[in-house]
Amino acid sequence: MTDSDTNDGDTDRERVSVPDEVELPRLLDFYELQTEDQTRIHEFYDNLRDGRLTTTQCRDCDELHFPPRIVCPECTGDDLEYVDLPHEGELFAFSEVRGGAPLGLSEHEVPFVVAAVDLGPVTLSARIDDASYGDLEIGDPVSLKVVEIDGPTDEERVFYRFEPQ
Ligand SMILES: [Zn+2]
Repeated sequence: MTDSDTNDGDTDRERVSVPDEVELPRLLDFYELQTEDQTRIHEFYDNLRDGRLTTTQCRDCDELHFPPRIVCPECTGDDLEYVDLPHEGELFAFSEVRGGAPLGLSEHEVPFVVAAVDLGPVTLSARIDDASYGDLEIGDPVSLKVVEIDGPTDEERVFYRFEPQ
């Protein structure tokens, strides 16, 4: 074997690069498109953009839904109105995500906490910011935090999270 057959680090190797950020395919985007021509629950996102957490309630049978609906799952009526939800609640259950977060969602941010948050009228699942698993206990008070979604569309999008009070 001669020097030219070896790959001992002295040879001129071609350098290739791996992008720091892989552009996120649209189908792997966790977040829904939020405008009127893309979703019939756009009012939920419009309200959230204004800092209000809302959901739909059926005018026929009074059923409160979460997530918001376009048809009432209780009575199949479609006469729904948006009503405000409390912005404060308590941890009903929580867990820590340490890996395997969806591409583009939070894969650079693990570990993070996800929880079922009891708001009273509804219990919803959400990410808990500004807290680590070991800091939290069931029943801890949390409050709404609205975040802006960065990419992969040009659209301005928002989503809800919670944070300890
Ligand atoms: Zn109904």
